[in-house]
Amino acid sequence: MTDTMQRELFSSETPATEQKATLFADVVFDRPLDHAFTYAVGVELHERIAVGKRVRAPFGRGDKSEIGYCVRLCETAPERSVKALVAVLDDQPLLTDHLLRLTRWMADYYLCGWGQVLNAVVPAGARDKSGTRTLAFVEAIPEAAEQETSSALTAKQQSVLELLRRAGKPIEQRQLARQAKCGPGPIEALILKGLARRFSRRVDRFVDGAAEEETPHGPLVLNDDQQSVWNRLEPALKQGGFHAFLLHGVTGSGKTEIYLRAIEEVIQRGKEALVMVPEISLTPQTIQRFRGRCGEVAVLHSHLGNAERGGHWRRVATGQAQVIVGARSAVFAPANRLGLIVVDEEHENTFKQDTTPRYHGRDVAVMRARLENIPILLGSATPSLESWHNAERGQYTLLTLPQRVLDRPLPQVGLIDLRHQPPKRGRPLAVSDALEYAMKTSLKAGGQVMLLLNRRGFSTHIHCPSCGHIETCRFCDLALTYHKERDVMLCHYCGYEQEPQRNCPSCGLSAIRYQGLGTEKLQVEIEERFPGYVVRRMDGDTMRKPGSHARVLAAFRKGLIHILLGTQMIAKGLDFPNVTLVGVVNADMGLHFPDFRSAERTFQLLSQVAGRAGRGPQGGRVLIQTFAPEHPSIALAAAHDYAGFVAAEMAHRRQHNYPPFQRLARLIVRSRDREAACAFADLLADAFQRALHPSIQSKGGEATPLELRVLGPAEAPVFRLKGYYRYHFQLQSPSPALLHQVLRTVLPAQRVPNGVEFTLDVDPFNML
Ligand code: ADP
Ligand code: ZN
Repeated sequence: MTDTMQRELFSSETPATEQKATLFADVVFDRPLDHAFTYAVGVELHERIAVGKRVRAPFGRGDKSEIGYCVRLCETAPERSVKALVAVLDDQPLLTDHLLRLTRWMADYYLCGWGQVLNAVVPAGARDKSGTRTLAFVEAIPEAAEQETSSALTAKQQSVLELLRRAGKPIEQRQLARQAKCGPGPIEALILKGLARRFSRRVDRFVDGAAEEETPHGPLVLNDDQQSVWNRLEPALKQGGFHAFLLHGVTGSGKTEIYLRAIEEVIQRGKEALVMVPEISLTPQTIQRFRGRCGEVAVLHSHLGNAERGGHWRRVATGQAQVIVGARSAVFAPANRLGLIVVDEEHENTFKQDTTPRYHGRDVAVMRARLENIPILLGSATPSLESWHNAERGQYTLLTLPQRVLDRPLPQVGLIDLRHQPPKRGRPLAVSDALEYAMKTSLKAGGQVMLLLNRRGFSTHIHCPSCGHIETCRFCDLALTYHKERDVMLCHYCGYEQEPQRNCPSCGLSAIRYQGLGTEKLQVEIEERFPGYVVRRMDGDTMRKPGSHARVLAAFRKGLIHILLGTQMIAKGLDFPNVTLVGVVNADMGLHFPDFRSAERTFQLLSQVAGRAGRGPQGGRVLIQTFAPEHPSIALAAAHDYAGFVAAEMAHRRQHNYPPFQRLARLIVRSRDREAACAFADLLADAFQRALHPSIQSKGGEATPLELRVLGPAEAPVFRLKGYYRYHFQLQSPSPALLHQVLRTVLPAQRVPNGVEFTLDVDPFNML
């Protein structure tokens, strides 16, 4: 009996429960497991099951079941008998074939469970259908001749009609009323007169139309540099196929215009474009730049509510959006006809996720472009050393915009050496006389000022001058920061809060001191020293409420704020032509982190913040206060010398076998029991050491040890975090293949003791 005959026979004559299964599904669960589990698919589910859908299946002991993703279907029965699926949960697959392959690659590369990856990439809101509603839309009827009717129209009706005609597409009724500044009357009248029609459409609840009200400017005339970049890019876009470009363009050089052209080009070919930007840059201004120029835009990022995110996700999946703009997780947008990926500010650390799966959004984007066989464009004023290295060895094509648009110069950068400041009586001030003078000059001339201080809070450490006690978190090895507005002492790592104290908890002396400078204290000082000017602060504390970011930026743009101070939030990507002075209060803050990327980060941050100055016709300058003016990160950022910085830093990285020359993996072992953590870290590091020294190979010689190095174990820089003791070590490997080979041999053989956990971070960014 053939398979088909058998299937027909059984399906018509035997009850479903007794039939022999002919279809099997491989299912992965949200677990750190490397393999899929096979289940029989009952006939009643044959129609419904598909790869990329979620299923409920028995898992674990007893009759427990769990939700997993179906990743493969096959008709050959496995060797041993298997359990049957309980249910198929989705009507439509949540994942395209490309996304399945991409997530499979991620599980391999980052060594985590495929199910863990899938669970992280499909937003919760996409798994249900909440967040849609029906709205009334109005559009002009094109056939209706103007002459016949215009005499009969009131002025209001006339202006509504003009709005509709200019839009050339349906507008949601209430939005139309808002735009025309009228009630429902004139709209109803137009419908009655046969000049417009109304229909209802089911839309996602949260697609905001508000931004459409502004009219974006059309394509600009490219300058010579932009034109030569475009000449290299255009053929690749027309041709399709994988091609990675690195666009290195100084701040204000018009990179966005290149992105927009590239996007328009692929949209014209009926394809979709994905634009990834750092979370911080997802401002209405950014989104606005794409809307209007590029058709329907969907926005994906983690601050959206579930339903809202689900709504955008479905719009993308059903092909209703031509452009998808989003942060890291947008790389998983379920676009079916992707033609281009753009990653703006590709050097940003926020593209790396610091929970499982610990992926880097840019790297996953490059892999996605490879899988989909499409071009990818990475852009930055300060490319990461990894990407620069890839360009140098020909993996990426380097495109350069060396100058700002319209012959605007890069701002002049001056350094203020804090070591040579005359000592002041009274409390130390954050802003030196030189910076104060420059601020006053700029403000008097009608310019706006930005001040960067990359530390939130009021006082950054609280210490007792008598016994030296420093108030630290109960759960972490970190000094608490005093936040005056909320009147709490706060741990910036775990969020632990405690009431501020007057007496030293250690020696009882009542003179405990609140020292160190955070943005809150800076704001108080600036308000005192600049009376009559409007000062606003932008940091993690003031920007908690959704929309507050956008509100402050809008007010700043309108000139309602004179001085905007804040953390790195103010440094990135903003284009405010009236900013004539940018001040950096303390450039050294990030320099002394125990992290091989600290010099690169400082250089990037200073270059980025300097790039905010002088974007308008009146020019601008930058003043950087520092205790280390000769440090290459600071001196070369001041000279706008990316090439010089990269050359110096590359030499340093090469010498120490750091990325981009070698690959890194970081293993962190943690436990509430210090001994247990220490013992397991030793054991694990030892296992790696042994794997590197294979025993005698062939007769005669010792095998050469693999060129992979184990650094550590040692206490992690933040030794105690959230109540856990942490040890870590690193693997340094000349190639990713070798790194993976060693990880795959060593890790599965380990038994992790109870009460101990370990995490693996491939290509780590957080070294604390
Ligand atoms: P970047 O992203 O490189 O920092 P932007 O794309 O924000 O630079 O461009 C800076 C400003 O220059 C924007 O206001 C943009 O509209 C303008 N601009 C870009 N290209 C041109 C051009 N060819 N001619 C005139 N203005 C331009
Ligand atoms: Zn803490």
